[in-house]
Amino acid sequence: APAARPIGRFAPSPTGELHFGSLLAALASYCDARQRNGVWQLRIDDIDGPRSVPGSADAIQRSLESHGFQWDGPILWQSHRIERYHAALAALIDKQLVFACNCSRRSLPAGQIYPGHCRNQLVTLTPVADHALRLHMLGKVEFTDAVQGLQQFDLSLDVGDSIVWRRDQLVSYALACAVDDADNVTHVVRGADLLEGTGAQLGIIKALDLRPPEYAHLPVAMDVNGDKLSKHSKAPPIDEFEPLTTLAQAWQALGQIDIEASSVTEFWSQAISHWQMARVPRVRRITV
Ligand code: GLU
Ligand code: ZN
Repeated sequence: APAARPIGRFAPSPTGELHFGSLLAALASYCDARQRNGVWQLRIDDIDGPRSVPGSADAIQRSLESHGFQWDGPILWQSHRIERYHAALAALIDKQLVFACNCSRRSLPAGQIYPGHCRNQLVTLTPVADHALRLHMLGKVEFTDAVQGLQQFDLSLDVGDSIVWRRDQLVSYALACAVDDADNVTHVVRGADLLEGTGAQLGIIKALDLRPPEYAHLPVAMDVNGDKLSKHSKAPPIDEFEPLTTLAQAWQALGQIDIEASSVTEFWSQAISHWQMARVPRVRRITV
């Protein structure tokens, strides 16, 4: 059979407008997918209803369009995939890898790996009121990140038992993202702020016997004060009216060779042929 076409994606959460930091991820994943003659999908990670900002999915879409991004096929909405996530959760429960956890946030030391308190509370049915469901993490995962190099995680020591179903009865982001990337994507290109979460996602993918994608984790854009440019830090949305300037800045921030372009269309044709993942700085953060 012919090799399947590579598939990349950009997967913003609809929690605000597109900012320069997320544009870096969009640009790099777009160049990577197009250079491989692959498909590039737009996925909206909208399962966390409480965090969604009305109108932001539309705003992100418009902003991508004004910068000349062209995604393939319909937009993928995580909120339309809930049944798939439930099936994945049921498969994990079936394998007896899931337990119900009712530890209060206060009883768990902040920033530490979950110590496995509730591992003996096996579940056979979902959901359990007032409990989160955690995946019992076992073994190791490793991969070679196209930017950051070899990454190794001991799942019980470095990652810990990840929440797959939240106490507020929503599927966890880690589960949704792991399942979507394993089902639909061959090349994940995203910010290095998500690298820690990749251990958990690979643990979930492994527990489900799915095939993991390849990963590239880009340096995260920080402002001169050392704050991550993000929706939370109130980074200004990117200017819709100067797309070429913004694209050129993003291109340069990613360490790419100089290209000349007088229009957005020309930028993309140059960018797609000259993109080199190997030139992306092998660091977790860059100042822009
Ligand atoms: N939706 C998540 C975010 O915007 C991450 C998506 C990804 O894995 O690239 O932070
Ligand atoms: Zn617990």
